[in-house]
Formats: sequence, C-alpha cells, structure tokens
Amino acid sequence: MNDERLVKQLTPKSEDYSKWYLELIRKAELADYAPMKGMMVIRPYGYAVWENMQRLLDGRFKRSGHVNAYFPLFIPESYLQKEAEHVKGFAPEVAWVTQGGNEPLEERLAVRPTSEAIIGPTYAKWVKSYRDLPLLINQWANVVRWEKVTRPFLRTTEFLWQEGHTVHETYEDAQAETLRILDLYKDFAETDLAVPVLAGQKTEREKFAGALMTYAIEGLMSDGKALQMGTSHNLGQHFAKVFNIRFEDRAQVLQFAWQTSWGASTRLVGAVVMAHGDDSGLVFPPHVAPVQVVIVPISVGNWRESVLPLAAKAREDLARAGVRVELDAREEFTPGWKFSEYEMRGVPVRMEIGPRDVKQGQAVLVRRDTGQKEPAPLAALVEVVPRVLEEIQRNLFERALAFRRENTREVEDFAAFKTVMEEKRGFIEGAWCGDEACEDKVKDETMATIRVLPLEQPADVSRRSCVCCGRPAKMLAVFGRAY
Ligand SMILES: [Zn+2]
Repeated sequence: MNDERLVKQLTPKSEDYSKWYLELIRKAELADYAPMKGMMVIRPYGYAVWENMQRLLDGRFKRSGHVNAYFPLFIPESYLQKEAEHVKGFAPEVAWVTQGGNEPLEERLAVRPTSEAIIGPTYAKWVKSYRDLPLLINQWANVVRWEKVTRPFLRTTEFLWQEGHTVHETYEDAQAETLRILDLYKDFAETDLAVPVLAGQKTEREKFAGALMTYAIEGLMSDGKALQMGTSHNLGQHFAKVFNIRFEDRAQVLQFAWQTSWGASTRLVGAVVMAHGDDSGLVFPPHVAPVQVVIVPISVGNWRESVLPLAAKAREDLARAGVRVELDAREEFTPGWKFSEYEMRGVPVRMEIGPRDVKQGQAVLVRRDTGQKEPAPLAALVEVVPRVLEEIQRNLFERALAFRRENTREVEDFAAFKTVMEEKRGFIEGAWCGDEACEDKVKDETMATIRVLPLEQPADVSRRSCVCCGRPAKMLAVFGRAY
C-alpha cells in the first residue's frame, strides 16, 4: 500500500475549505451520513472526543455546585406556546409528533428544540420557598431543530448537548450565574479545546428567543469565519411568569423566580476540527484527543522479539500514568502508512521505536502540531510524555491566538468594512450606533453579523462613529461572518 495514499486523498484546506472539512470528518471516522437528510451518525472516534468534552465540562459544572437530571424528550404544544417570543423563535424548526401507535394524539407533542418549556412547569412544582433556591440543574441530552442547511457537527437536525437550567431569588443572582457560566465556557474552550474565544453579549436581534439577555463565546475558525461555541442566557422572569414559578421570599412575600439557561453542543467537535486542522488532517488538542499517544514499532529485523516487548511496556507505563495511549503492532500496514494515518487522525504524539532506539534505551516522540522529533529515554516516558502533551496543548492555543490577532481588524468606515469582509474575513472591531437598521444593513451587504458586544467596552467609544452610518457610536461590536 502506498504510504502517502491517505494524505493525498484529502483536499488541501487552502484549496477548498468546505470540501476539506467534509472529507476529513468522514476519512478520520468522526461521523458518517445517515439516511435522513441533515442527520449524522457519530462514529466511535468522534464520540470519544465528545465524551472527553463532556467529562471536562461536567467536572466544571459539578465543581460549581450544579447537578445533573433528565427531562422528557417531548413537550406538549400548549406548553411550548406559553412564552410568546420563545414559540415564535423556535416554531420554524420544531419537529412534531402527531400520532402514537395508530392513534392520532389529542395534543401534538414537540420534540424538544430546547427544554425551557418542559422544565419550567416542573420547576413550578419544586420551587416554593427561597430555601429551595438556587436550583442548579444541568441535563445532558439530544435536541432536534429542523434545519434547512446542515453540516456535520456544525449544524445538524439532531444534536447532543448539555443544557443548564437554574432558578434564583433575584435578578442579580441570575445575572451572576449567567456570567459565571459564560466564564466557565470560556475557560473550557481555551484550556481544553485550545480555542481562544471572545466572550460578550448578543444584540437583541441575535439573542435567544425568550431571554432577557444572551451571552456567548465566539471562536474564529481557520477560514476566518466565526463559530458560536456556547451560550448563556439570563431568562429574567419570562418563563417564571408563564409557568408560574413562584417562591416565598425572605419577607414571606410571593415572588416570581429568576432563571438562566445555557448550553454547549457537539458543534464543539467541529470547532476543534476547524480551529486546529491542517492539510494533513486533524490536529487534536491533547485534553480532548481520543488517543493522545500512538506507539508505532518500526517493523524491521527481529522487531517482534527486540522492539515489541519494550513498546508494550511503554504502552502499559503510559496507560498507568493516565495517558490515553495505543500501540499499533499490526503487520499488514507499514510504519509509513501508519504515520500518515495517525497524522490524519490528529493524534498529538507519535512514538516511534525501532531496533536502534532499543539499543539506546529510547523512543522518538514526533509532535503532530510541529512535526518536531525528540528522543525520550524509555525509563522516563511517564515524565516526558505528559510534559510534551501539555506543551502541545499550549502551543495550539498560542497558535490559534496568534491567528485571531492577525485576523482581528479595526475599521473606521463602511467602505473599509466591506473590503475587509470581502477579502480577508476574520473579526472586525467596529463602533456601532446601536441601531438595528445598521445591523441589518451590515448583514445584507457583507453577510457579517454582530458576534458579540465585548463585556469590557473602551471608555472613549462615544467619541467614535458607527462603522455603518457614521453617527456617534454607543458601543464597540465585534463583527464576523459566522457558521
Ligand atoms: Zn449606525
């Protein structure tokens, strides 16, 4: 078999980004298409990435006092319709169940597009007093949104996610929770996914249907397009009022509760692919890589006797030290073929070990991010490998951060705005008057939207003028074309 076969088959990223992405998802066996349009099968290798993300996020939720529960997949139509903005926002995307077995249902059931409308009435039963608050619950679940244009992981009709739903005594408590989760998402994206993100508020137009305020983290993918990677909503009392979530406060007065909801989904797998992948394939940050180290014995001479036992011991030592490691001793594939294969699959470290290395008591570590080779004493693998993995993790973040810096531009007027969006994409930092007419015009003429309004606004923003209309600005906005 030709060693270069797999790499050659992958369309280079620079040639056709979208084709590269779709090919890579399938060749690396992250996902496969399903018979139904817009749905996907997450294959074991892709699911392992999601499991790592779940574990890391879930740990963060638990450490900040949240617990998991599970709510039903179906929502009665009358429940979904109670919050006017919510139903208006989700109506075009809802899948309906109209029949149970052979019997038509008296009331249609929505397949949850999100669970506010089923969790709200449940919370109304549970919340009676300020002593019941805060209620900090998360669920890991699937949701369905009938999407017209889909792409594996980034936008699919059914996807997996977590949705947190919390209840608080006061507006301030709910707002603090909303921002605490925003910060948690940012830390997760940057520390574990190695994707730098901008955290900020969404405009009225871009906010969640039914929320008082929506906040999001936004990453910049390597084609210069933005990707929303997690959202956190202050729901105010909107849902509490329609579902009657009331509690007796500390002065024994009945009050409507304050709520938040927040979510992150399997879209994050797509984010990792697009933020770090290159022409040779995936590049996984070690924290979420399904396999962190692959050991490839160099199969020459009497390698089965000389090399393989040491490779097996290295595998055992590393596994015991908590490293996700595999040993590929298959004889039907050449080492060269394996090198290309694991490069394409994004394994952070390849460990080569041949007869000559055995004599020297070492292995050679090859980094997926830089291609750098480094010999490591076999006796010290459990110290060296975790260090190298952390270096890779950090380097991927630094690289993505440098890319974002290079691709974040300030513009002063609309002509410059259009040129940048047309020729370079990336993020544009521009002052905005706050008028939705300008937001619409920008979208119509450049396909860019306001991704976030940064939490920290420059003090002099009122002296600047709107990038669209030139009138005095109210705030700084970050614009981009988004997935
Ligand atoms: Zn304007």
